[in-house]
Amino acid sequence: MESFDYIVLGAGLGGLSAAACLTRQGYKVAVLEKHYLPGGCCHTFDYGNYRFCADVHYISQCAPDQAIGQFFSYIERPVEFNSLDPDGIDRIITPEVDFKIPLGWETLRSRLIATFPDEQTAINHYCDEILQLRAEMRNLTQEINWYDRKWSNWLKLPKYWNLYTKRSWTLQTLYDHVGLSSKLQNLLAGQSGDYALPPNEIALMTHTSLVSDYAEGAYYPKHHFKHFVDTIVDAITEGGGVVQLSTPVEHIEVSHHRVQQLIADGKIYHADKGYISDLDPKLTVKLMHMPKVPPKVLSQQETQRLTDYEYSASAFNLYLGLDSRFKPERYGLGHWNIWYYPTGNVNQAYEKQLAGDLTHPWIFLSCPTMKSSEPGMAPAGHHVLEIATVCPYQPFKDLRDCDTVAYKAKKRDLYQHIMTSVRDLIPDVDSYTRMKVYGTPTTSEFYLGQPQGNIYGAKLIPKQVGLNRMGYTTEVPNLFLVGATAGYPSVPGVIINGMEAVELITGRSVWNQTLAADRSTKVPVGSVSS
Ligand SMILES: Cc1cc2nc3c(=O)[nH]c(=O)nc-3n(C[C@H](O)[C@H](O)[C@H](O)COP(=O)(O)OP(=O)(O)OC[C@H]3O[C@@H](n4cnc5c(N)ncnc54)[C@H](O)[C@@H]3O)c2cc1C
Repeated sequence: MESFDYIVLGAGLGGLSAAACLTRQGYKVAVLEKHYLPGGCCHTFDYGNYRFCADVHYISQCAPDQAIGQFFSYIERPVEFNSLDPDGIDRIITPEVDFKIPLGWETLRSRLIATFPDEQTAINHYCDEILQLRAEMRNLTQEINWYDRKWSNWLKLPKYWNLYTKRSWTLQTLYDHVGLSSKLQNLLAGQSGDYALPPNEIALMTHTSLVSDYAEGAYYPKHHFKHFVDTIVDAITEGGGVVQLSTPVEHIEVSHHRVQQLIADGKIYHADKGYISDLDPKLTVKLMHMPKVPPKVLSQQETQRLTDYEYSASAFNLYLGLDSRFKPERYGLGHWNIWYYPTGNVNQAYEKQLAGDLTHPWIFLSCPTMKSSEPGMAPAGHHVLEIATVCPYQPFKDLRDCDTVAYKAKKRDLYQHIMTSVRDLIPDVDSYTRMKVYGTPTTSEFYLGQPQGNIYGAKLIPKQVGLNRMGYTTEVPNLFLVGATAGYPSVPGVIINGMEAVELITGRSVWNQTLAADRSTKVPVGSVSS
């Protein structure tokens, strides 16, 4: 039996960030990961001469005084970042607009007003509302740790009345409130894939956090995401910890209200101080193999809290390796992302795609080899394209389980649908393509343990964000959660989860007190009373 101070289940960025912070505090940590690569959604895989990051395309909060900057500073491993183009981090294309979202909230406001002068009043109203909500969220997160609530916190809430009244708003509620045209509504929902929900479902607080965070900085690691993940792994292993790949956790043994040990890849692992799960909470509970009869491992109430939530949508990912004749600049590609909505109606596009109609889908398209010129992703002069959209999980699941041939045919069919949208942007893309690989929701479920291939953990609708977010502690005192559903998704989101969980567990701060990091990504107010 192997023994450690802490054992982390899963080497996603939430787990790795917790493990790296604990290592920095002198603890002996083991990370057990079922994949043969570390990083979870952020892992990088090789295919032929090309290299692709499975899911992640750009990240926020990398400045020295922000969360990711502070994390690398705390673990004493510098990582360099390139900014996406300040003049346009995201380019939104619909039949009616082709608009670049710049860095800086006021720059965005001025550009919107200059481009759509007829809508000046509604634009100002929208921008002011987001600014105010953002400021209030920031103040609240300075006053309250959403994951460590105390009764006295409720006394502070009256001054956040505006936030409280908007806790159940979606982005669509704000649109209707400020009276934006449908053209502008769809443009301003252009980054919808960053939370995988259309305006009529996404929690306004989550939209506010996302657009504000990216307005303050949008980054790509100078040496690509593989270096980003490897740097964290090195900090753990060089500090005496282990990151054990190809080691699936098979059973979590809980008795007498404590996790006693784990079984992973047939071996027993024991932690003296605690177990931290980066796995989906429902998956974590499933691994306890709870007996149907008492004594129960978890109370009914806790079981419900950890398992009763709805997943975010699943995605189809497409990765292309293009030869050196391909010139991205000719097609308007650069160090920014493209969001292309062929019909221009974001609400309808989600409804249609998630109902299974993937004809001419909306797509996200990124060219990582334009975001950093450092080698490592493709042969010299070649390029990589990463493309994604949302699609339903169940049709793939049903076919994969009972008809592999039909599953593969459906996969190819969806590839062709997505390529229709890609060809709208790059008509001769096929002539440069040297490598193509694509993954369905069941691919994500298989490789990453993301149930139903979900992209962002628990769906970011008003009733699943805010103070009712799950949090890092469980009723089992030595079992903690750090993944996207426990706290918040996104790379900065889960890195903050890991940092906050460690602070909570060990009582030792991981934040640079003089820099007072902005942790408002955590958006604690989405559903204060629900
Ligand atoms: C398509 C897509 C695009 C995205 N784009 C961005 C982006 O551009 N920017 C951004 O900031 N965020 C993005 N995200 C979100 C971000 O990547 C995730 O929120 C975050 O990485 C999730 O981290 P996590 O710690 O919750 O765990 P995960 O990344 O889900 O990792 C969990 C780990 O646990 C492992 N595991 C599962 N079961 C077991 C088991 N039984 N035993 C051992 N190990 C196990 C898995 O293999 C995995 O490695 C994207 C996500 C997706 C899916």
